[in-house]
Amino acid sequence: MLRLIFFVFLTLILYSLLRFLFKAMLSSGKKRDRKQDPEELVQDPYCQTYIPKRSALKKKVEGQVLYFCCEKCLKSYVRKEVKTSA
Ligand SMILES: [Zn+2]
Repeated sequence: MLRLIFFVFLTLILYSLLRFLFKAMLSSGKKRDRKQDPEELVQDPYCQTYIPKRSALKKKVEGQVLYFCCEKCLKSYVRKEVKTSA
């Protein structure tokens, strides 16, 4: 009888250990996937707001691609850039 309890106990430990390893493997895999996530956040350089890349307004300024939350920010930023660089 004692042997049976020991065996059950050992199986439970092994089972939880395997589950823990499996979970760790799964979470590390998720981290890798996050890099290719289409819901990647980009920062609006004008108002400093983070917006999803998909819904952001794309604008190339001086060879650099910038993302804006709205057209108002885009225009204001471009105007500001022209002013500062000129
Ligand atoms: Zn903005």
